[in-house]
Amino acid sequence: MSDTSQTKVTLLAGGVGGAKMAEGLAALPDVALSVIGNVADDDSFHGLWVSPDIDTLTYSLADVIDRQQGWGVADEGHRALETLKTLGADTWMSLGDRDFGLHIYRTQRRLKGDRPSDITCDVARAFGVSAEILLPTDDQVQTRVRADAGWLSFQEYFVRERCAPDVRELSFDGITQAKPTPEALAAIISADLIVIAPSNPLVSIAPILGIPGIGEAVQSARAPKVAVSPFIAGKVVKGPADRMMAALGERADAVGVAQRYRDVMDALFIDHVDAALAPEIQTIGPTPICSAILMRDLKDKTRMAREIVDFHHDHARKGAAA
Ligand code: GDP
Ligand code: CA
Repeated sequence: MSDTSQTKVTLLAGGVGGAKMAEGLAALPDVALSVIGNVADDDSFHGLWVSPDIDTLTYSLADVIDRQQGWGVADEGHRALETLKTLGADTWMSLGDRDFGLHIYRTQRRLKGDRPSDITCDVARAFGVSAEILLPTDDQVQTRVRADAGWLSFQEYFVRERCAPDVRELSFDGITQAKPTPEALAAIISADLIVIAPSNPLVSIAPILGIPGIGEAVQSARAPKVAVSPFIAGKVVKGPADRMMAALGERADAVGVAQRYRDVMDALFIDHVDAALAPEIQTIGPTPICSAILMRDLKDKTRMAREIVDFHHDHARKGAAA
C-alpha cells in the first residue's frame, strides 16, 4: 500500500456500477485502491443487519460474486429463506444461504459494539480482498423514498416494489448528524486521484458526498477528480437512476451528472455515443472525455481503469509543466 511507485486511488462507489469500477482499478498493479462505499441502502432483515452495497463491493473484489446478477454470491442456495417463508416471514428481500453467514457475523459484531468500519475491513481481509473497503460513516444513514402512496425504505422501493413507483422525494435519514470516518477522510485527503464510479448519483453517490465533511474533503482535496457517467445515450445500464433523475426534474443524461458533480469533479468520462453533449458539459465545468464506458467484462473494466489513471498522469504532467 505504501509503495511510492503506486498511484493512490480513492473510489466513491455504490453497488453494481461501483463494483465494476472497483474491479478494474484493483486489477491495475500500479494502483493502491481505497473504495468508499455506500451504507445508506443498509437495512435490517430477520434481525440481521444487511449492507447490500458494501457486500457487492466485497463479493466482487473477492471474485465470489454472482456474475449473472451482479450481486449476491455465486453458487448460492436459498434454504434459509425457504424456512423463513414456511414460518410466515416476509421474504421479498432475496438473501442466500452463503450471504446469510456474512449478515449473521456482521450483526453479532455490531451487537458487541464493534465499529462497522472495523467489521467491514475484517470481512474484506477474510475474503482475500486487498483493496481497502471503507465506510463513509459508522453512523446509521438510511435512504427513504417518497412515492405517491407514501414513504418507503430504500429496499422496499428497490426490491419489493421493483422501482415501479415514481419517486417524488428522497431523504437520507440520519445524514446531518452522521460523522465521517477518519479512514474515509484520510483516503480522500491523501489520494493521488479521486474517482466517482458510474453509480446511481441520487442514491449511491449523494449519500456518500452528503455526509458532513466528506463532500467538503473531496472538494478541497489536492487530487484530480474524475467521474464516469452511469448514463449512456440517456439511459442507465441497469436500475432506476434515469427515471429517478427525470422524476426529480434533473436531466437524465451525462449533462445531469455533470451538473450534480460540478463542484467535486475535474473531468467526466462519457460514452462515444454522447459526444454531442461534450460542449455542454464543458460549459458546466468538467472536461468531458469520450470513451467506451460500458464495462461488460474484466477486460472492459481494466481498460476503463487504465484510461482514468493515464488521464491522471497526463493531468499531473501538464500541471508540472505549467
Ligand atoms: P447499485 O447500488 O447496485 O444500484 O449500483 P450503483 O449505484 O453502483 O450503480 C448503478 C448504476 O451503474 C446504474 O445507473 C448503471 O447505469 C450504472 N452502470 C452499470 N454498469 C455500467 C457500466 O458498465 N458502465 C457505466 N458507465 N455505467 C454502468
Ligand atoms: Ca445500492
